Amino acid sequence: MTALPKLVVGNWKMHGLREHASHLARAIAEGVRSIEGNVQTIICPPFTQLAGVHDIIDASGPTGQFFLGAQDCHTTASGPFTGDISATMLADLGTKYVILGHSERRQAHGETSQIVCKKVQAAEAAGLIPIVCVGETLAERREGRTASVLAAQIESSLTDRFTGVLAYEPVWAIGSGIIPPREELERTAALIVGLLQSHLKADDIRVPILYGGSVTASQAPSILSIGALDGVLVGSASLEAEGFLDIIRVAA
Ligand code: PEP
Repeated sequence: MTALPKLVVGNWKMHGLREHASHLARAIAEGVRSIEGNVQTIICPPFTQLAGVHDIIDASGPTGQFFLGAQDCHTTASGPFTGDISATMLADLGTKYVILGHSERRQAHGETSQIVCKKVQAAEAAGLIPIVCVGETLAERREGRTASVLAAQIESSLTDRFTGVLAYEPVWAIGSGIIPPREELERTAALIVGLLQSHLKADDIRVPILYGGSVTASQAPSILSIGALDGVLVGSASLEAEGFLDIIRVAA
């Protein structure tokens, strides 16, 4: 079986006016061109920067290594939903991936796993690759409920024949500068492999698993050496080209 490429996903969140976004995307495009190895880079700017960043990725040539992602989509393809953006619209713009169920959307926008699953269906129907985020809060971790929280989120957020990417993002690790101890991350990654196997009930589907939460270039070697992980989802460290490129170099 050929090895899956490592995935490095940059989530810009609600950051990036035009000048900064194009500067950052150009610097990443240039850096990615010089990185050899089995690694794919995906950057997910805010909606307003998608078209501009798409053109920069396009102009950087057909590397097969650098792709555009969005940070959310609606559950349906079109309709009377003021202010929303559909997966079909994202695909029309040349977007290839979409992050769904990020904890910031689950918490601030009341997105349940059932809503996330509808978004996954909409993304899959539009030909996008969903990157679904799951992860426990600090309270749930302290109460020893990580496994049951992840099991419920995976069961309810993913379609039966999910062919996207799963990102394990402990909520307490996001933006905190703290990442789980290596043994804990190894254990949780192995747990997720088992949960995916029993959810998908299919041997022919291999869902790449990413870790996200305070990833930096210095933490990346240890995280990426965990066999069950196929890459990283990077927030703040993706807003600075050199640091982000260093993470991609580690993954390559
Ligand atoms: C995120 O929010 O997806 C994330 C991983 O953020 P950070 O890297 O800043 O913790």
